[in-house]
Amino acid sequence: MSAVLRAIAFLLILLIPGLQPESSGNKVETFSCGAGGTVNESGESMSDENNRDDSEWQKRLTREQYEITRRKGTERAFTGKYDDHYEDGIYRCVCCGNELFDSKCKYDSGSGWPSFWKAIDNKKIASVTDSSLGMIRIEITCRQCGAHLGHLFNDGPEPTGMRYCVNSASLEFEKRK
Ligand SMILES: [Zn+2]
Repeated sequence: MSAVLRAIAFLLILLIPGLQPESSGNKVETFSCGAGGTVNESGESMSDENNRDDSEWQKRLTREQYEITRRKGTERAFTGKYDDHYEDGIYRCVCCGNELFDSKCKYDSGSGWPSFWKAIDNKKIASVTDSSLGMIRIEITCRQCGAHLGHLFNDGPEPTGMRYCVNSASLEFEKRK
Protein backbone atom coordinates (compact mmCIF):
# COMPACT_ATOMS: atom_id res chain seq x y z
CA MET A 1 0.00 0.00 0.00
CA SER A 2 1.38 3.37 -0.91
CA ALA A 3 1.77 6.19 1.55
CA VAL A 4 -1.08 8.08 -0.09
CA LEU A 5 -3.51 5.18 0.29
CA ARG A 6 -2.51 4.72 3.91
CA ALA A 7 -3.19 8.40 4.58
CA ILE A 8 -6.62 8.19 2.95
CA ALA A 9 -7.52 5.08 4.94
CA PHE A 10 -6.45 6.82 8.13
CA LEU A 11 -8.60 9.85 7.33
CA LEU A 12 -11.62 7.63 6.62
CA ILE A 13 -11.25 5.97 9.98
CA LEU A 14 -11.21 9.38 11.67
CA LEU A 15 -14.17 10.72 9.72
CA ILE A 16 -16.55 7.78 10.01
CA PRO A 17 -18.21 7.72 13.44
CA GLY A 18 -18.08 4.36 15.08
CA LEU A 19 -14.84 3.40 13.45
CA GLN A 20 -12.77 5.54 15.74
CA PRO A 21 -10.53 3.31 17.81
CA GLU A 22 -10.96 5.24 21.11
CA SER A 23 -14.27 7.02 20.87
CA SER A 24 -14.61 7.49 24.63
CA GLY A 25 -11.66 9.85 24.80
CA ASN A 26 -13.62 13.08 24.97
CA LYS A 27 -16.26 12.11 27.47
CA VAL A 28 -14.23 13.00 30.55
CA GLU A 29 -14.47 16.69 29.83
CA THR A 30 -18.22 16.65 30.16
CA PHE A 31 -17.88 15.97 33.87
CA SER A 32 -15.11 18.38 34.73
CA CYS A 33 -16.09 21.66 36.38
CA GLY A 34 -13.90 23.90 34.30
CA ALA A 35 -12.34 26.69 36.36
CA GLY A 36 -14.27 25.69 39.48
CA GLY A 37 -14.99 29.28 40.51
CA THR A 38 -17.86 28.37 42.80
CA VAL A 39 -16.12 25.49 44.49
CA ASN A 40 -13.89 27.57 46.73
CA GLU A 41 -16.20 28.82 49.46
CA SER A 42 -13.65 28.79 52.23
CA GLY A 43 -13.02 32.50 51.99
CA GLU A 44 -9.33 31.96 51.40
CA SER A 45 -9.38 33.78 48.12
CA MET A 46 -9.81 37.51 48.56
CA SER A 47 -11.31 37.86 45.10
CA ASP A 48 -14.34 35.91 46.26
CA GLU A 49 -15.25 38.53 48.84
CA ASN A 50 -17.20 40.65 46.38
CA ASN A 51 -19.25 37.67 45.31
CA ARG A 52 -20.67 36.82 48.70
CA ASP A 53 -24.39 37.17 48.68
CA ASP A 54 -26.38 38.96 51.29
CA SER A 55 -27.38 35.90 53.32
CA GLU A 56 -23.75 34.88 53.59
CA TRP A 57 -22.81 38.28 55.05
CA GLN A 58 -25.65 37.97 57.54
CA LYS A 59 -24.25 34.66 58.72
CA ARG A 60 -20.66 35.84 59.00
CA LEU A 61 -21.24 39.19 60.72
CA THR A 62 -22.91 40.27 63.91
CA ARG A 63 -26.19 42.07 63.45
CA GLU A 64 -24.57 45.43 64.10
CA GLN A 65 -21.64 44.76 61.76
CA TYR A 66 -24.06 43.67 59.06
CA GLU A 67 -26.36 46.68 59.44
CA ILE A 68 -23.45 49.09 59.20
CA THR A 69 -21.19 47.52 56.59
CA ARG A 70 -23.76 46.00 54.24
CA ARG A 71 -26.73 48.33 54.89
CA LYS A 72 -24.81 51.59 55.27
CA GLY A 73 -25.88 52.09 58.86
CA THR A 74 -24.18 54.31 61.42
CA GLU A 75 -23.42 53.38 65.00
CA ARG A 76 -24.40 55.90 67.67
CA ALA A 77 -21.64 58.36 68.51
CA PHE A 78 -19.40 57.47 71.47
CA THR A 79 -20.68 53.87 71.57
CA GLY A 80 -18.23 52.11 69.24
CA LYS A 81 -15.45 49.97 70.69
CA TYR A 82 -12.69 51.82 68.83
CA ASP A 83 -13.79 55.40 69.45
CA ASP A 84 -11.63 55.74 72.57
CA HIS A 85 -9.02 53.18 71.57
CA TYR A 86 -5.37 54.10 71.02
CA GLU A 87 -3.37 50.88 70.99
CA ASP A 88 -0.58 50.46 68.48
CA GLY A 89 -1.63 48.42 65.45
CA ILE A 90 -3.70 48.38 62.32
CA TYR A 91 -7.40 48.43 61.63
CA ARG A 92 -8.71 45.99 59.05
CA CYS A 93 -12.04 45.76 57.27
CA VAL A 94 -14.23 43.57 59.51
CA CYS A 95 -15.72 41.89 56.43
CA CYS A 96 -12.69 40.95 54.36
CA GLY A 97 -9.56 41.75 56.39
CA ASN A 98 -8.34 44.48 54.03
CA GLU A 99 -5.79 46.70 55.85
CA LEU A 100 -7.39 50.12 56.03
CA PHE A 101 -5.99 52.36 58.77
CA ASP A 102 -2.87 52.58 60.93
CA SER A 103 -3.19 53.59 64.58
CA LYS A 104 -0.41 56.12 63.95
CA CYS A 105 -2.90 58.15 61.92
CA LYS A 106 -5.74 57.90 64.45
CA TYR A 107 -6.67 60.95 66.49
CA ASP A 108 -9.40 62.14 68.83
CA SER A 109 -11.72 64.24 66.70
CA GLY A 110 -14.31 64.56 69.47
CA SER A 111 -16.95 63.33 67.03
CA GLY A 112 -17.61 60.05 68.84
CA TRP A 113 -16.36 57.88 66.00
CA PRO A 114 -12.87 56.54 65.28
CA SER A 115 -11.14 59.19 63.20
CA PHE A 116 -8.07 58.97 61.03
CA TRP A 117 -6.28 61.68 59.09
CA LYS A 118 -4.98 59.23 56.52
CA ALA A 119 -5.70 55.74 55.18
CA ILE A 120 -2.93 53.16 54.86
CA ASP A 121 -3.39 53.28 51.10
CA ASN A 122 -5.99 55.31 49.22
CA LYS A 123 -6.27 52.50 46.71
CA LYS A 124 -7.81 50.29 49.41
CA ILE A 125 -10.69 52.68 49.94
CA ALA A 126 -13.36 53.78 47.50
CA SER A 127 -15.23 57.04 47.89
CA VAL A 128 -18.56 58.03 46.44
CA THR A 129 -20.81 61.07 46.83
CA ASP A 130 -23.59 60.43 49.33
CA SER A 131 -26.56 62.81 49.21
CA SER A 132 -28.70 61.05 51.83
CA LEU A 133 -30.04 62.86 54.92
CA GLY A 134 -30.24 66.14 53.01
CA MET A 135 -26.48 66.70 52.91
CA ILE A 136 -23.72 66.11 50.45
CA ARG A 137 -21.07 63.88 52.00
CA ILE A 138 -18.38 61.58 50.73
CA GLU A 139 -19.07 57.98 51.67
CA ILE A 140 -16.06 55.71 52.06
CA THR A 141 -16.17 51.97 51.45
CA CYS A 142 -13.70 49.09 51.42
CA ARG A 143 -12.58 48.77 47.82
CA GLN A 144 -12.09 45.04 48.19
CA CYS A 145 -15.52 43.99 49.45
CA GLY A 146 -17.68 47.10 49.26
CA ALA A 147 -18.25 47.36 53.03
CA HIS A 148 -19.58 50.74 54.13
CA LEU A 149 -16.99 52.31 56.46
CA GLY A 150 -18.16 55.84 57.15
CA HIS A 151 -17.55 59.27 55.63
CA LEU A 152 -14.67 61.50 54.65
CA PHE A 153 -14.55 65.15 55.69
CA ASN A 154 -12.07 67.93 55.06
CA ASP A 155 -11.88 69.23 58.63
CA GLY A 156 -9.10 66.92 59.80
CA PRO A 157 -5.69 67.83 61.23
CA GLU A 158 -2.47 68.49 59.36
CA PRO A 159 -0.71 67.27 57.33
CA THR A 160 -3.66 66.06 55.22
CA GLY A 161 -6.54 68.11 56.60
CA MET A 162 -8.74 65.07 56.08
CA ARG A 163 -10.94 63.22 58.57
CA TYR A 164 -11.84 59.62 57.84
CA CYS A 165 -14.82 59.17 60.14
CA VAL A 166 -15.30 55.43 60.50
CA ASN A 167 -17.73 53.17 62.34
CA SER A 168 -16.03 50.90 64.88
CA ALA A 169 -18.28 48.09 63.70
CA SER A 170 -16.67 48.24 60.25
CA LEU A 171 -13.21 47.64 61.71
CA GLU A 172 -11.20 44.86 63.30
CA PHE A 173 -8.13 45.94 65.24
CA GLU A 174 -4.92 43.96 65.12
CA LYS A 175 -2.04 44.73 67.50
CA ARG A 176 1.31 45.45 65.91
CA LYS A 177 3.71 42.55 66.38
ZN1 LIG B 1 -13.58 44.76 53.01
